[in-house]
Amino acid sequence: MAASPKFFVGGNWKCNGTKDSISKLITELNSAKLEPDVDVVVAPPFLYIDQVKSSISDRIEISAQNSWVGKGGAFTGEISVEQLKDVGVKWVILGHSERRHIIGEKDEFIGKKAAYALSEGLGVIACIGELLQEREAGKTFDVIFQQLKAYADAVPSWDNVVIAYEPVWAIGTGKVASPQQAQEVHVAVRDWLTKNVSAEVASKTRIIYGGSVNGGNSAELAKEVDIDGFLVGGASLKGPEFATIVNSVT
Ligand code: PGA
Repeated sequence: MAASPKFFVGGNWKCNGTKDSISKLITELNSAKLEPDVDVVVAPPFLYIDQVKSSISDRIEISAQNSWVGKGGAFTGEISVEQLKDVGVKWVILGHSERRHIIGEKDEFIGKKAAYALSEGLGVIACIGELLQEREAGKTFDVIFQQLKAYADAVPSWDNVVIAYEPVWAIGTGKVASPQQAQEVHVAVRDWLTKNVSAEVASKTRIIYGGSVNGGNSAELAKEVDIDGFLVGGASLKGPEFATIVNSVT
């Protein structure tokens, strides 16, 4: 088997923070000791990206939490990929379940957003994940394969894509997937990539887990062969705990 891809940990701050709380968080992150062999990315709310970019260590890259599907212009309330690049953003989270299920974004639209962001040089953290009722109905794989297909149909290349498997029932609920549950889906995602994209993409693409990851459960999850990192919500708002998660790489 090929060597494991580089561990990747993203902090999704969602719609949280103020100038003051973010400044405190940056101070904590800048003074934390982070394993060198891990890609570390934080995703602040748009409004604070500039503040974060100008004060956070270069060790940590910045992600947006969303981006517009094409070139900017008359799209009230949206933020374009070009604008994100202009302020130093390197990544964008797309297809997050909160955007799918609260805002109503659909697979095809998310695929188009991913394709556009990649074509303009941003890395994409491409989220997938099933609802509780879908898992209970035995539809987990159908759902995630359909979400994967929408990305695969649209993206020009998988070079700058990190797949984030985030079961919706585990997000913000404190109900983390067991390492075995996460591993089972990550293996299925890798198999799907082998069959539908290529063996090379399957072995190189980072598949990270998200959903109630914290400083107490990350080390166990990180032991699973196919878990290549984490996308962290709540626990990424605490600098020392986020550092513990980053350092849980095995
Ligand atoms: P959580 O969120 O860690 O708070 O569950 C994860 C996410 O939504 O990315």
